Amino acid sequence: MDELFTLCNKNPKDHFKYDQLDTICHYFYEDGKRFIAYKSWDKFSESLSSVATEKEKNALKRQLQKAAFRYNLTAPIFIEQSLHRFKNYLNRKTIKGLINAGKLNLIESMNQENQKRVSNPYLVQYLNRFATYNGSDPYRAPALLNMIPHLEQNLGSYFPKGGMFNIPKSLHQLAVSVGVQFHFQHAVKEIVTSGKNVSAVRVLPLETLEEFHHPCELVVCNSDIYNTYNYLLPNHKAPQKTLSQERSTSALVFYWGIKSTFPDFHLHNILFSADYKAEFDHLFQSQEPFHDPTVYINISSKCEPNDAPEGCENWFVMINVPSHTGQNWDDIAAKARVNILEKLQRILQRDIESLIEFEEILDPIKIEHRTSSHGGSLYGTASNNRFAAFLRHKNFSSSIKGLYFCGGSVHPGGGIPLCLNSAKIVSQLIANQ
Ligand SMILES: Cc1cc2nc3c(=O)[nH]c(=O)nc-3n(C[C@H](O)[C@H](O)[C@H](O)COP(=O)(O)OP(=O)(O)OC[C@H]3O[C@@H](n4cnc5c(N)ncnc54)[C@H](O)[C@@H]3O)c2cc1C
Repeated sequence: MDELFTLCNKNPKDHFKYDQLDTICHYFYEDGKRFIAYKSWDKFSESLSSVATEKEKNALKRQLQKAAFRYNLTAPIFIEQSLHRFKNYLNRKTIKGLINAGKLNLIESMNQENQKRVSNPYLVQYLNRFATYNGSDPYRAPALLNMIPHLEQNLGSYFPKGGMFNIPKSLHQLAVSVGVQFHFQHAVKEIVTSGKNVSAVRVLPLETLEEFHHPCELVVCNSDIYNTYNYLLPNHKAPQKTLSQERSTSALVFYWGIKSTFPDFHLHNILFSADYKAEFDHLFQSQEPFHDPTVYINISSKCEPNDAPEGCENWFVMINVPSHTGQNWDDIAAKARVNILEKLQRILQRDIESLIEFEEILDPIKIEHRTSSHGGSLYGTASNNRFAAFLRHKNFSSSIKGLYFCGGSVHPGGGIPLCLNSAKIVSQLIANQ
């Protein structure tokens, strides 16, 4: 975000403000154990004393250092450039990464490596959770993804002033200030081609319903690549193998207005499942949520008191669920609600249901409807395959000149930081075309 403002000759601090968090996340386990991840290693380590020995804590520290090594070595290769341009394999950083590939552990899963190096079950579960940051299964996702905690724990966690919504809001303001024109409530129905070139987009304004062609020589498509081929490029051959890859998880979210306050909770809170392996087997094999799900609770009013009335809190209660493949989400949400409330009762020793004053539910179908993400996946395709980074769709079309792709379903993957990187890669590709 800062880089984008700087690129437009603006001081990021004047437009997009954020605070670094001292307290990163509160973790709760079914057996009553808890700890808090702090920015400061000393405080984090002290809190871990409730679940780990000094030796185990040191093993965690080493694993976090290894995460930093991996990130610094691989981010320039896998995140910040296209993997589909031959010349990108010839630069100094890529060659350095390839020389050190042996140190990256391209064989084991995240869980296998965490078990071997850290072994303490509480800490392994903490480390395995980072697979969910791109909707994957730590029991299958490659150990290379054990770099993710580096971003949160070593580089730090930040809270945007005004909440997550301020990320798109300030990007929108920045774009308008440099002359970008937005056409909201206009659905693109087709990317029109002429010969091997992009020639227009066919647009349906949702207010007038009077379709028109907008001529153009260049299209950057941010829609999910699955829908792009299936709906926007109906006359072009779709790369079926790429499109049929395993999807990342989706989410079931309960937005609860709670008429009480909870000192045990902070901005980010995780209540772990007692059987993490079974939870992921349910998500990816049975395609259903587990009866004892890991529950993430975000309470922005802990940082922005005006987000909830005095004496109340705004809870965003989320569990990971599979992407939509035909499940009955009303039934699933009803069961999940009971399971979540029972889990909260067990862990907090308080009845929550009677404190819910407001409720709204978001499920994979609604996510798909609002964003066009196929199946409501949050992060495009999953990273459960060792070669996932190479299997994602590239950021350009090889058959249609002038067509580029960015967003969560293409390289380098889903989540806001990676999506911003995909846009950066596209801008580089266009500049060098
Ligand atoms: C509940 C939830 C919580 C999340 N939490 C986090 C988080 O904490 N951190 C994080 O990094 N990520 C998080 N994510 C994931 C993150 O939001 C996505 O990975 C990211 O927004 C994907 O970006 P995108 O640009 O690919 O797609 P989107 O942000 O979905 O944007 C695509 C846009 O294109 C529009 N569009 C699609 N097709 C068309 C068309 N044909 N014509 C016109 N417009 C079209 C859509 O309406 C949408 O506005 C979360 C997602 C959800 C749903």
